[in-house]
Amino acid sequence: MLIDSFNRTIDYIRVSVTSRCNFRCLYCMPNTPFEWIPHENVMRYEEMFEFLKLAIDEGVKKIRITGGEPLVRKDLDKFVKMLHDYKPELDLALTTNGYYLKKYAKKLKDAGLKRVNISIDSLKSEVAEKIAQRDCLNNVLEGIDEAIKVGFQVKLNTVVMKGINDNEILDLLEFAKNKNVIIRFIEFMENERAYPGIKRVDSKEVLEKIKTKFSFKELPKKNEASKNFMLEDGNIFGIIEPHNEEFCKSCNRIRLTAEGYLIPCLFFTESYNIKEAIRNGDIKKAAEILKDVVKNKPEKNDWQEEKISDRAFWETGG
Ligand code: SAM
Ligand code: SF4
Repeated sequence: MLIDSFNRTIDYIRVSVTSRCNFRCLYCMPNTPFEWIPHENVMRYEEMFEFLKLAIDEGVKKIRITGGEPLVRKDLDKFVKMLHDYKPELDLALTTNGYYLKKYAKKLKDAGLKRVNISIDSLKSEVAEKIAQRDCLNNVLEGIDEAIKVGFQVKLNTVVMKGINDNEILDLLEFAKNKNVIIRFIEFMENERAYPGIKRVDSKEVLEKIKTKFSFKELPKKNEASKNFMLEDGNIFGIIEPHNEEFCKSCNRIRLTAEGYLIPCLFFTESYNIKEAIRNGDIKKAAEILKDVVKNKPEKNDWQEEKISDRAFWETGG
């Protein structure tokens, strides 16, 4: 069992399988990084699997595959299958921008993936293109439909930005309701890589906006990043508010990057590399590093406008 110094049980790992992406979202990767990670520095799926087996044996129950854009890495379904075959009851999830989902959804479902979170920031083609810096909306919409069709549990993620897509909160909520899926509105997390003009919309404002049209009640907090609310018709939506003091109390996750860095908290720069230990077949060392990461997980993040994180979301997987 992995328990940190603040008595939080760590049973969730987010794995970024690539830092590359086919989008250039304003809040994440507005410019192409100067240099991508050289191929030999990227952990092979087999290497990630060796480490993840260790974590699963230590009590990790949920693995979310993310990126960059995870669907730009080849053979993702094979990686999913390795994990699923090792422990079929593992909660295996994916976060994707949806662009290639129509093509891969069925393969991933057959491999054992259970849940998919899809990022959608606008229902207007030109706004979606402005945010992702790529004409993308049709593909994303087709990806959402395919994911629902093949039977995934689907959630949608929207980063709300002042003056860009904050006038679409109600439309996006209606869209999710009509598809019978949960949408979560995420507060923009300030970071050095984001486009400098981006301003966050506090979740309070999001809730105020939703109140102008719908009645809802807050649901008891579960062990997840979002606070969830139920609308009168039974549909659920969520908010993710990393700027809220309470946010970190129930944090149960650590992150693994494509280069093998284990990251205890998204905000801080601390990281520990497990790649060499795994490449040398030194599982004992990898297990020690895992324990250190958990032990050194900070109590709280520090997302504020004045204190901008230098973490790159495309490396850590969000
Ligand atoms: N490419 C995939 C996608 O966009 O869903 C997966 C990786 S992305 C880094 C994971 C999540 O992080 C996405 O939901 C994205 O919206 C969110 N994200 C990225 N940068 C963010 C930021 N600065 N603030 C809040 N959320 C962010
Ligand atoms: Fe790519 Fe996801 Fe970052 Fe957008 S948020 S640039 S889709 S990694």
